[in-house]
Amino acid sequence: MPGLYKDEGIVLKTIKLGEADRIVTLFTRENGKVRAVAKGIRKTKSRFGGRLEPFTRVDLMIYKGKGALDTITAADIVTSFDSVRNDYLRLTSGAAVVELVEKISEERERSFPTYSLLLGALEALAAGGANVVPAFLVKLLSISGYHPHLTVCAGCSRPDGLVAFSPALGGVACDDCRREDTGAVRITPGGLALLQRLLADDFGQESDASSTLDLTSALRGYAEYHLDRPLKSLRMLVATG
Ligand SMILES: [Zn+2]
Repeated sequence: MPGLYKDEGIVLKTIKLGEADRIVTLFTRENGKVRAVAKGIRKTKSRFGGRLEPFTRVDLMIYKGKGALDTITAADIVTSFDSVRNDYLRLTSGAAVVELVEKISEERERSFPTYSLLLGALEALAAGGANVVPAFLVKLLSISGYHPHLTVCAGCSRPDGLVAFSPALGGVACDDCRREDTGAVRITPGGLALLQRLLADDFGQESDASSTLDLTSALRGYAEYHLDRPLKSLRMLVATG
């Protein structure tokens, strides 16, 4: 039914449309992923100003017409997350976070867990928390139907001798099973313990930088395998890490 609706959302990305408009992709609290047009946003005197930049949390009024795309009629900033945009590492981390949400979500599939996880990740990034990206990856994969086995071998269910992380098998693997997946990567006992902590505990788990990079890289492989598409921002984050 055509008409106006209210929601709140986090901007995932924007792309240019025509001379003055943008299509804004948001993850909203009530409606999941929504793509909507912000008319005139690229004009200097736009009423939207900088309110629809990626990462911004906004209160929205949206008009649902008969076409495929809705139209944003009003946007008010709840949290700008400027501190995520103004620091290179936070910016690339935030870009990886919103890209994964954008690619893992179907349009108009409401998910409170995804919304609160996304908000939590941006708040943790803004606060300068450690390991936000790998924690976000393993948590989001887990609640989105791609939960990785982390306590027993994903191939044969043995609980010990876990030496690898295998996208194709779906989690950690023993030395025998990891040979079945050429995409499997080595994982140390410390790396596995950290991964389990990142899944189970709140954002902000500390570790050394090389463990962070190894886990982020392993989870990138896992996410790309299961989504069957490249995650460019995550690749950039791993390459510059
Ligand atoms: Zn096994």
